[in-house]
Amino acid sequence: MENKKIVVGNMKMNLTAEEISDYLKEINGQVGSNRVVICPTSIYIPYFLKQDYLVGLQNTFLHESGAYTGEISPKQAASMGIAVTIIGHSERRMYFDEKDKLINEKVKEAIKQNLRVILCIGETAEERNMMRTEKVLRKQILGGLRGLEKDMFDNVILAYEPIWAIGTGEVPTNEEITKTIGYIKSLVLEIYDYESIPVLYGGSVTDKNIKELNKIPNVSGFLVGGASTKPKKFLKIIEVAVK
Ligand code: PEP
Repeated sequence: MENKKIVVGNMKMNLTAEEISDYLKEINGQVGSNRVVICPTSIYIPYFLKQDYLVGLQNTFLHESGAYTGEISPKQAASMGIAVTIIGHSERRMYFDEKDKLINEKVKEAIKQNLRVILCIGETAEERNMMRTEKVLRKQILGGLRGLEKDMFDNVILAYEPIWAIGTGEVPTNEEITKTIGYIKSLVLEIYDYESIPVLYGGSVTDKNIKELNKIPNVSGFLVGGASTKPKKFLKIIEVAVK
């Protein structure tokens, strides 16, 4: 059975131009897969294009063009050969106050421009402790995917990222992740009649735990933050999950 996963690196706002140059020397030519997407800080994107992996954005806006200082549109992204955009990352929700309605508009515009969207969902520690995980995920899925036609789902990937696991070194058990991904998939089937939505896991994925996480039966791949900025660690994750 085909067991190759998708690996997405979210480099966030990390590394200087000099560090990026060193990073690229180690990464380029070593990946060799269009199942790997690297999302650098956007000013560095031209350095990453036309290599042996895909390039994604960490965020895109909801309009094609116009007076929106500091934003990047999906249309601009597509015109640069960018294939993927992350939408609704918990840091965007937390620090930029992005709500489901805005996220939904961003998702739709990105799909309109034929980008693959990675929609991030996940619960806080408090919500987890209050046993509200499924409720929170349901709200984020309904809000983020509202109004999508069935054929638009071919462009959607969900990333289950428990917020308490992001950058903390804490990771749910494989059983917990399997159960939650099962819930997400069954919800998308029930509400949108879409059967094969890919669901990634994200949250403290490293070169040390990837072998274990890769055993999760229903995971389609991994969204990697911190470890994606360290070439050796990131290449190890790719080797285990993709190759
Ligand atoms: C993320 O922010 O999407 C993420 C998964 O981060 P980390 O791997 O550092 O936990």
